[in-house]
This record gives sequence, C-alpha cells and structure tokens, in this order.
Amino acid sequence: MITNNKPYLSGNETEYIRKAIESCKISGDGVYTKKCHQFFETKYGFKKVLLTTSCTDALEMAAILLDIKEGDEVIAPSFTFVSTVNAFVLRGAKIVFIDSDINNPNMDVDAIEAQITSKTKVIVPVHYAGIACDMDKIMSLANKYNLFVVEDAALAIDSYYKDRPLGSIGHLSAFSFHETKNVISGEGGMLVINDERFINRAEIIREKGTNRSAFFRGEIDKYDWVDIGSSFLPSDIIAAFLFAQLENIEKIQQKRKNIWNIYFAGLISIEEKGKVQLPKILNFATNNANMFYLVCSSIDERTKLIQYLKDNEIHAVFHYLSLHKSPYYKNKHDGRELKNADRYSDCLVRLPMYYELEEEQLNKIISTINNFYN
Ligand SMILES: *Cc1c(COP(=O)(O)O)cnc(C)c1O
Repeated sequence: MITNNKPYLSGNETEYIRKAIESCKISGDGVYTKKCHQFFETKYGFKKVLLTTSCTDALEMAAILLDIKEGDEVIAPSFTFVSTVNAFVLRGAKIVFIDSDINNPNMDVDAIEAQITSKTKVIVPVHYAGIACDMDKIMSLANKYNLFVVEDAALAIDSYYKDRPLGSIGHLSAFSFHETKNVISGEGGMLVINDERFINRAEIIREKGTNRSAFFRGEIDKYDWVDIGSSFLPSDIIAAFLFAQLENIEKIQQKRKNIWNIYFAGLISIEEKGKVQLPKILNFATNNANMFYLVCSSIDERTKLIQYLKDNEIHAVFHYLSLHKSPYYKNKHDGRELKNADRYSDCLVRLPMYYELEEEQLNKIISTINNFYN
C-alpha cells in the first residue's frame, strides 16, 4: 500500500533529543526552543515567535490575546479544520462562515464584507494547502472596519504572498508541526506575533498567566500571577525534534515541490479534458507543496476514485467537512448556503504526499488516476 502520509525524519532528531536530555533542561523554553525561535525570526522576519504544543493552542492564545468575548463575531471559512474556529468558540464567539472560492478552497474574499457587522472582531483566513489567500484584500477590510486578522497558517510554512512570508501579514498567525505537515514535531505549533502590542501579554498567557518569562530573563526579581493563561509551551524535547527538521527545510521543500510538479504534469491532461479540477496557484501566491489534491465532479465519482486507488494499493483521502453543517454548529449557523465549501467537502481528494515518495510510486499513482478517467 502506498500510504497517504509518512513522517519525514532528517536523521538528527534522536541526537538532538539526547542532547536536550543531557542538558538537564527539558521543560519549555530550553536551548532548542530558543534555536527554533531564532530560526523562524531570522528566516521569515517574524517579529516574535513562540512555540506552542499545537496550532490549536496557538489559535487559543490568539483568541485570548484579542479578548474575544461572548457575542463577538469571527469571520472564517467553513471548509477548514475545526481548530480554526473552535479556539474562538471557546471564548464565546459566534462564527460567521464564509464560502470557499470557486477556483480554490480558500475563502472567497469578496464575500467577506457583506458579513461584517458592528460585532465583528476578527477575520481568520486559512491558507489552504499552503496557498495564500488574497491578503491585501483581507488586510484592507481589517483596516477599514478596525478588525484583527489571525492567519491560520497551519499548512503554510515557507509559502509566500507577493514575496511576503505567510504568517507575517496578519496581526497574529498560527502554524502547525503536526506529523501531517511539511515540517513536524509529532504534535507542535507556534504563535507568530506581528503586532508588537501583543508580545508581552502573549508570553504571560503562554506561561499560565504569570510573568515567568520576564523573570527568567532577569528583568524582574520574582514572578507573579498577572493575567489569565494556560500552559501552552512545549517541552524542549519537542523543540529538539523540530530543530532537526528546520535544519533541513530547504531539502524538504525542494523534494516536495518536485513531487508536486510531477503530479501536476502527469494529471494536467485530465483537467484539460474537464474531468477534474487541479490546484490553482494565483499570481500573488507561491506553492509550498503542502498537499496535492484534485477535485472530482461529484461525491459519487470521488468515492469510486478513492476505492479504485485503494484496489490498486494507493491510499487517497478526502479532507475537511463543511463546519457550518457539522453536528455541533449546524443549528447555530445562519442558514446561508455555502456551495463551494460543500463541493470541496464532497469532491476533493488528497493524493499521497511525503518526502520519501519515490518516482516509481508517483508514476503508478498518476497512471492509475489516468486509467480511472480514461
Ligand atoms: C492541522 C491544522 C490545524 C491544527 O493543527 P494542530 O497542530 O494539530 O493543532 C489547524 N488548522 C489547519 C488549517 C490545519 O490544517
């Protein structure tokens, strides 16, 4: 069976974990956490980075930082992972879901303005498959209506919008290092703080509501409980694993882009025949090869394609299910139809995508799909 995902290992993970253990400081914010912070701040110019135990946690920190309260409204796509919005629901927010674009699963930016009310506080764009949303349009709406923007950049490491790294544009951004993403630490994530006003409070929220980070830097002589917070920082063992990955990010990205390009070249003819929709990378975006997907013309066809691939020992999977129709949210949604989100829920298929995918396996996947459609 060709699996859908296989975690990439650089080879140095165990060595760095051993070093972290030998340093006798394996709780949070040790040597490797600092190395990771520095890596991201240098390579992508993020103003301030804080590793977290997951992207979900980074999003929860964002919701706390923005003082989200009962009755606030948050605008987000329906076709996304549950954590994008759950973080805000936990603080009492109402989610106003936006449909996906017709060309790709990102939210339809032209549908946002009509949903902004006096209660709206945040827009949460998700860069699906690591491909940028139109951030200029989103940021100008945020300026016009005085809103915050939190980028859910879980899938978007090393991807760009008009030469600006994704995650560097919104007031806050969240990344994931879950084992299904491009660079991984098993579970893991980070909060990026681009708006300086949030830096101090972010450190406090991450450290259980205390000013322990400032204390460890020697800025104060004791630490106190000063705000609400939780335990959002990962062990340095996790950071050690992640740092081994980061040292190889160029190599990982090169390999994944190569795989992506082979898929695209091998499947473009079935798109040209009008049978499937392939990912579309608009001029303002780059491709970080997070995922290769295709969109079938119906749920029936998708079910058959996934089965056909399975019969040929290839594991392909579908992805998110529209959140506005979820058992938890369907009665809270305002009833608007979100047709494109539903279409991607029903028709999108993700093909195997991982570092060790070999050319022979890739060719087999491509020819199996072509056989199915011919
Ligand atoms: C994976 C993912 C998350 C959650 O990441 P975790 O690190 O598992 O919490 C959030 N949003 C999107 C869009 C994702 O793909």
